[in-house]
Amino acid sequence: MIPAAPLPLQPETALAPTPATLPPAPHWQRLWREAVRDPRELLAGLGLDAAAAGISDAAAASFPLRVPRGFIKRMRPGDLNDPLLRQVLPVGLEERVVPGFGLDAVGDGAAKKAEGVIQKYRGRALLVATGSCAVHCRYCFRRHFPYAEETAARDAWSAAVKAIAADPTIDEVILSGGDPLSLATPKLAELTARLAGIAHLKRLRIHSRLPVVLPERVDGELLQWLSALPWPVAFVIHANHANEFDAQVDAAMARLRGAGVQLLNQAVLLRGVNDSVEALAGLSERSFAAGVLPYYLHQLDRVEGVAHFEVPDDEALSLHAALVARLSGYLVPKLVREVQGDTGKRPL
Ligand SMILES: *Cc1c(COP(=O)(O)O)cnc(C)c1O
Ligand code: SF4
Repeated sequence: MIPAAPLPLQPETALAPTPATLPPAPHWQRLWREAVRDPRELLAGLGLDAAAAGISDAAAASFPLRVPRGFIKRMRPGDLNDPLLRQVLPVGLEERVVPGFGLDAVGDGAAKKAEGVIQKYRGRALLVATGSCAVHCRYCFRRHFPYAEETAARDAWSAAVKAIAADPTIDEVILSGGDPLSLATPKLAELTARLAGIAHLKRLRIHSRLPVVLPERVDGELLQWLSALPWPVAFVIHANHANEFDAQVDAAMARLRGAGVQLLNQAVLLRGVNDSVEALAGLSERSFAAGVLPYYLHQLDRVEGVAHFEVPDDEALSLHAALVARLSGYLVPKLVREVQGDTGKRPL
């Protein structure tokens, strides 16, 4: 069970100068706030010419650029085709209107069970804990999601927890978003303390890109929370390319494993990012070196503004077949697509 007492303060918080001032924000929250939000600043830092980059102010206005500085350090300077840069840079191609690419491609609107709870599959309820992310991924199917209304955090999760408690067929809660780890740890602890009162829950799952894009998020306070959870935890990170891993990410993964969670990776197949056998095999091998098993390779969800990232099914299948021929079985992710109304992710 979750201890009723508040989590012990982190060392830096414990050293707060005077009781009259608020405790300083955790280190990761400061890094979060220092994220780059200006495409021109991002490009200049990489020695790239903004005029040649095809950036779009309209795309940036509808879904702003956001990228932590530590993630930018993993990009190759001077390379407009860098696979990490492609994932975050708002470009003119996003303004294209392409038939078949809509606003709610995955049917989240229809699968809403309560405020902040989406259930599509048996036994698993997805809790939209927050709408915020530390990085904004251009291909994300949630770029059009009406977070202001859908975020369970708004009413402190009461309706969401009630809906899950009322359905004994749910044995796993998936903390998702947005990125659930963008919530401060005491907030997460408050949420899981409420869920801990639901007897039929057997597992907790966390879907988060933060350990990859801002590994400092995996701090002592977070590990303490994770270690004290009353359920086995599946922790699904999200990395699309081997270059997203560096020594700091490796260290964050080691800390997570130390807290006893099962680490898995989900990736999205993306044109210009990882649409080659080398890139996909490299991702699996690099993830495993960090202690993370490949889980899913998702076909892109067809939402407006992402068509230029799409890899056709026949090409996806042949890439996957090449992975099967090349890698140990446990290094091959399942190639899936989300189809509205299905009972689970559909294998291609
Ligand atoms: C993807 C997804 C899940 C998890 O599916 P798994 O196959 O168990 O990983 C659960 N709920 C929703 C709404 C999803 O989109
Ligand atoms: S971190 Fe995840 S939810 Fe957030 S923008 Fe990226 S892909 Fe989407």
